[in-house]
Amino acid sequence: MPIDETTPSRIWDRASIHDIQEKARLGRYRIRAFSTARQLPTLEDLTFLPSGLTRVPLEGYRETCDTSVTLGTRFAKKPLQLKTPITIAGMSYGALSRNAKEALGLGATRVGTSTCTGDGGMHPSDREYSKMLVYQCLPSRYGFNPKDVQRADAIEIVVGQGAKPGTGGLLLGQKVSPEIARMRDLPDGVDQRSPCRHPDWMGPEDLAIKIEELREATNWEKPIYVKLGAARVYEDVKLAAKAGADCVVVDGMEGGTAASPDVLLDHTGIPTLGAICEAVRALEDLKLLGVVQLIVCGGIKTGVDAAKAIALGADAVAIGTAAIIALNCNAPLWIEDYHAMGAEPGACHHCHTGRCPVGIATQDPELMSRLPVEEAAERVENFLHAMTLEMQIMARACGKSQVGNLDRDDLRALTLESALITGLPLAGTRRPIPLNLWGEGGG
Ligand code: SF4
Repeated sequence: MPIDETTPSRIWDRASIHDIQEKARLGRYRIRAFSTARQLPTLEDLTFLPSGLTRVPLEGYRETCDTSVTLGTRFAKKPLQLKTPITIAGMSYGALSRNAKEALGLGATRVGTSTCTGDGGMHPSDREYSKMLVYQCLPSRYGFNPKDVQRADAIEIVVGQGAKPGTGGLLLGQKVSPEIARMRDLPDGVDQRSPCRHPDWMGPEDLAIKIEELREATNWEKPIYVKLGAARVYEDVKLAAKAGADCVVVDGMEGGTAASPDVLLDHTGIPTLGAICEAVRALEDLKLLGVVQLIVCGGIKTGVDAAKAIALGADAVAIGTAAIIALNCNAPLWIEDYHAMGAEPGACHHCHTGRCPVGIATQDPELMSRLPVEEAAERVENFLHAMTLEMQIMARACGKSQVGNLDRDDLRALTLESALITGLPLAGTRRPIPLNLWGEGGG
């Protein structure tokens, strides 16, 4: 490309110049919400191989395709029976408004799936609106108490999250209302930076003790999940499985957050596609695939993404960002309020400001009133239903009467990169690329 005096530098491009000048103004790192903006290898880099002469497809109008899944079958006496393998990921009351949390609970309950409290404890309406509620136990222990452990349907011990593995939560003071401060036993209006490490453990042996404590506290009834931010997935999944988890939740780099230093969003963790493959490999090597169940999250946008994750070996997926987009995040409404934050509908990532124009990521009563619970719940229900139908379309096309029967043989890689990550044959070839990327026994 010819260069003249107006050509921007590729090294010092406009984004880099703006970044440096913002940090020079702020005197600290920059904070952003939503998720990484990087181009990553994703589930979209795979394609299904539907039936032809070698297999018979299922007739959509006459033949059923089961989407149900039971989570927590390893040890829990009362596993969760979901009608669809798409769950709602943990998002706190604080990060989200009360109306948003209630709408997620109502929408998920109507399609027969679970929601999750997120950080900061269980609000009474979490329990009221969600028939199946997963209660998070985070390093912060904000609002965590034994009575809510009893009220929950499953417990999720959070070791990390995909958007920012290796660090704790961040809730800026403008979203810390008196009620949220009371629930978390912290002062209102002050930034809350959650610890990144559980106060009572230093390693996997302590995780095993914590799991046993929770099992005894719940009479071995409730499934215990362990949630990991995707980093050293192979080793971490093995340790969580050996510590006694019923389900391991692996949250990839594309996972969302309501606030994070932007350097963590863009420069930590690994993409969901690679995380699934490492997790499955770890469980296979322990001979625990299908015994310890795998829930995958981070950038799942469609029922097709969910079906591909299941074909790669997951038992279920969780959605966070997609669920709040279904609520109305980034909708072209109250546009002047987006502009007042320096944002545009369709490209907003300003949840940390507390000024969410559509009433989702805010504690301002006037903004919250823009999200009527019933209407928002209907959109969540519709979206979960649409995703479930998309999964069934893919499964039927591949000749499967259960979405859970999709497997790696139903997939091919569309790019060299995704072929190397997944070990699937590149479309148009019959064998995986013969590289021994896993050392002994791999390739
Ligand atoms: S519209 Fe609201 S929830 Fe969506 S990114 Fe913007 S501030 Fe966050």
